[in-house]
Amino acid sequence: MSPFKSKLSLNKKILLIIIFICSIMLILSATMITLYEWKKLKESLISNMTSITKITSGNIQAAVMFKNATDADRILSEFKSEPRIVNAGIYLYDNTLFSEYNATNERLPSTFEYRNNELTYEFKNGKLHIYQPVSIQGEGNVIGSLYIISSLDLIYSQIRDNIIITFLIILLALLLAVILTAKTQRMISEPILSLSNTTKKIKNEKDYSIRVDHDEFLEIEELSDGFNAMLEEIQSRDENLQRLATYDELTNIPNRNYFIDLLNQAITRGNRKSQRHAVLFMDLDRFKNINDSLGHSKGDELLIKVAKRLNIIIRGDDIVARFGGDEFTFLLRDLPSSNQAAEVADRILEVLNEPFDMDNHNVVVVPSIGIVLFPDNGNTPEELLKNADTAMYRAKNSGGNKYLFFTDNMNKEAQLHQELEEALRNAIYNHEFILHYQPKFDLHSGKSLGMEALARWNRPNNGLVAPNLFIPIAEETGLIIPMGKQILDQAISQTKVLIDKHIFDGKLAVNISARQFEDKDLLNNIKSLLEKHNLSPENLEIELTEAAVMNETEDAISTLKEIRDAGISIAMDDFGTGYSSLSYLKKFPLNTLKIDMSFIRDMDQSEENKSIVKSIIDLSHILKLNVVAEGIETEEQAKILTDMGCDVAQGYYFSKPLDFNKISEFFGSSKIALNK
Ligand code: C2E
Ligand code: MG
Ligand code: MG
Repeated sequence: MSPFKSKLSLNKKILLIIIFICSIMLILSATMITLYEWKKLKESLISNMTSITKITSGNIQAAVMFKNATDADRILSEFKSEPRIVNAGIYLYDNTLFSEYNATNERLPSTFEYRNNELTYEFKNGKLHIYQPVSIQGEGNVIGSLYIISSLDLIYSQIRDNIIITFLIILLALLLAVILTAKTQRMISEPILSLSNTTKKIKNEKDYSIRVDHDEFLEIEELSDGFNAMLEEIQSRDENLQRLATYDELTNIPNRNYFIDLLNQAITRGNRKSQRHAVLFMDLDRFKNINDSLGHSKGDELLIKVAKRLNIIIRGDDIVARFGGDEFTFLLRDLPSSNQAAEVADRILEVLNEPFDMDNHNVVVVPSIGIVLFPDNGNTPEELLKNADTAMYRAKNSGGNKYLFFTDNMNKEAQLHQELEEALRNAIYNHEFILHYQPKFDLHSGKSLGMEALARWNRPNNGLVAPNLFIPIAEETGLIIPMGKQILDQAISQTKVLIDKHIFDGKLAVNISARQFEDKDLLNNIKSLLEKHNLSPENLEIELTEAAVMNETEDAISTLKEIRDAGISIAMDDFGTGYSSLSYLKKFPLNTLKIDMSFIRDMDQSEENKSIVKSIIDLSHILKLNVVAEGIETEEQAKILTDMGCDVAQGYYFSKPLDFNKISEFFGSSKIALNK
């Protein structure tokens, strides 16, 4: 591995490289300079010493020739003024030392053989040795030799001084390099380091909101700007992804996943700090109708408006999320008491009960809310949401537009409900439904003029089950559609049998629930069944409740018209219990109003009810509608109704609902008079 790939920081690496390069350069140049100087000093020493030797050899010529030692000694002693010369000696022709000069304790050899005719020198033992023959001037005869030894100490000390100076220069240069490097680093490595530190931080913390500092140097600035732009892009993509993953695209409030996440966190905190939370599960009843009648884009618009209203009423710490479709969930954290959850639920009902303006249409949504408390009703999001959903269903089934707190009983009921649903599916498959028929009577003539088909479930091992116990579940689960077809089929075919026997020629009334009425195939199904059994549409009346037709009035009116145009009569069942808006009575193409039995029941005791019944009868006549009173149980009730001018009567007083055999017998025997 290259040393530069080690874990050293960029700063240190650059510093080391610069110091390394500077040192090599400085040492190289110092060595070259020193070598050059060494050479120059040596040359100068040689030149100086050879000229001194030559001059001295001339000067000692006479002394050697005449063997005048005093002169020779005197001449040599002059070398005292030349510190470089450490030894000097004059040798005679017979190689004996004739005169000598020693600046140190070292002595010259006493004999010395020198036979060259000219000056020679050599470096030996760290000294310069110069030999010069002494010859008689002009004659060329060598009479002796001069031997001078020069010390190199001076050169050495000069070189040493130089080396010290060079070393100091190197140190100074290195110091300068370090200072300069530090400065350079601020320009180059620091931004790079900051870039690398930022990258590391972003990688560790996954925080893309961090930015790199700007730098004054163009290239680095471009680099950091580019890096920042990239981060900006990543951050915005990240936020987008985050938003998509946690927020509902349509309503811009938290989605299911995020809600469950937050609920999980709240549960963890709740367990730690003994906090209580509440989860509200809300569903908008019959929202599908709004989608079907106004279109999906209007449905979406309505959901956005609903979400906005909900967002306004919750506290800062509470969460409202779109759980899916028309389901909304609320998380109320750290509740002082369950009352607070009830208060929020009250506020939700209040704000949603205000109609929504959709292109000048007033649209009302009907919320049903189930409430669970943490930790009382569950310890996990799944459990809490499941129980809240159960409570919501209970609220919905008991009419909607209300909230219910979850109770343990609800779970048992939910289980029963589940079992019942399963059994109903089988019942449809096995054709377990039978019909009872309750005759209707003309209050004026006493003649029976029609009958209402009422479903019973012949449940194996259970006997006959009343419709109130299975029709609502069939409604809720949609099973009412296949079940309704079977009922219609049976009612029409049995009625046809009675007609063919010439014992019945009135109208068969069949109850059609809201969900059936919404079914686009309803009329076609009825028509094909009439055709199949060859029954005239005039013999058929459908009974609808106010709730079934009140959903989307415009659509309902056109469906009702189509039914009427097909020759089928329409009765408004249980009149007076629902919306009872007078304006729709005028708009709807109805034939009959059936006064709800709750008014009839208390009529003999309550003057108020009596007046209501009277008003309904009068109103029906004004609107040219037949009026039927149902649930007549006493002679007294029958009498009052006859006096009030009611047209048709139905009730136990006249006849209970009868199975097919009994109704056949009933119509086969004589007509029953009013006063039995
Ligand atoms: P509804 O259409 O209002 O039917 C009248 C109900 O009142 C019947 O109850 C009938 O037995 C009962 N009744 C008639 N006379 C009297 C009386 O004098 N006193 C009392 N206390 N009750 C009387 P039932 O058969 O239990 O049906 C209950 C409801 O179930 C029906 O109310 C109707 O809404 C629904 N239903 C029955 N059969 C069908 C069906 O085939 N399809 C649909 N969609 N709903 C049905
Ligand atoms: Mg009915
Ligand atoms: Mg009724």
